[in-house]
Amino acid sequence: MTAKILLAQPLVDKIKNELRLRCEGLKSQGTTPSMCVVLVGENPASLTYIKNKKKICEEVGAHFQLLHLPAETSEQDFLEHLSRLNSDSKIHGIIIQLPVTDKLKKLDIPNLVAPSKDIDGFHTANTKAIYYGTTDLNLLLPCTPKGVIHLLQFYGIDVKGKHIVVLGRSLIVGKPLAMLLSNLDATVTLAHSKTKNLEEITRTADILISAIGIPHFIKTSALNSAKHTVVIDVGINSLNGKVTGDVDPDVIEVASAISPVPGGVGPMTVISLIQNLMCAAENQLKGKK
Ligand code: NAD
Repeated sequence: MTAKILLAQPLVDKIKNELRLRCEGLKSQGTTPSMCVVLVGENPASLTYIKNKKKICEEVGAHFQLLHLPAETSEQDFLEHLSRLNSDSKIHGIIIQLPVTDKLKKLDIPNLVAPSKDIDGFHTANTKAIYYGTTDLNLLLPCTPKGVIHLLQFYGIDVKGKHIVVLGRSLIVGKPLAMLLSNLDATVTLAHSKTKNLEEITRTADILISAIGIPHFIKTSALNSAKHTVVIDVGINSLNGKVTGDVDPDVIEVASAISPVPGGVGPMTVISLIQNLMCAAENQLKGKK
């Protein structure tokens, strides 16, 4: 068996077309959806991520701006910049690019952006909907979990009643994803670095999602070929200068379907961000009327 490859591109193209129309609709009412990324200091990886966000943002007709602050920016200056952006009615979405500098690490970063402009979906006012059981992907929800669920839905992979093993319990991926999947009636196991007998668990998965950040960690032995497991690889790692996921390339021989790296969850995350921007701009326009 060779796994079906769950490419993001066809879905990204479809969503992009929808977003272009929504953007035109907003512009015809005098609102140009605009996002601002706040970057502090120099971080080459962050600059690459930001470039991808800018490209898609502009492709759908929205406005992008980068506020690049020096590495020595103090807490007070940083908070002043955010306060100004939060009250600027021309900015509909704000992202604080992670990681922030050590000087700013003590700040409650997820809660600094106004909930209505929180297009990363990290503010507790937005994440609480997940805890309360929402299945509404039009809310401002964290982008990677949202993108993973859209990808599964696009390829007709039903999660209801399935055993889904999520590896990694970060605030931006593993935890919200596990909870959203549970809201969608999956039976979820959330595993992490202290989980014992990991492969015994992963071999019972109908869907295995890895978000741990270790290149090629998931080997063929982690799957039971009789289960026809769907594998979603969230990892973005560097191995010998190449971008690789958490999943070993040999897994393609035992899985029924697999999301590639690059070209899988990464592009879904960026397009989800722009979906969030459009929702934020539409909500803010409705709020004005
Ligand atoms: P993180 O780095 O904050 O945490 C890693 C998680 O993996 C922890 O919860 C830890 O318990 C778990 N873990 C570590 N070793 C493990 C092991 N041996 N077995 C089981 N679990 C283990 O996580 P993150 O920020 O969610 O990032 C995870 C990966 O996903 C990284 O490669 C990151 O680059 C990638 N990522 C990709 C996207 C995307 O758009 N594709 C978005 C965010 C993160």
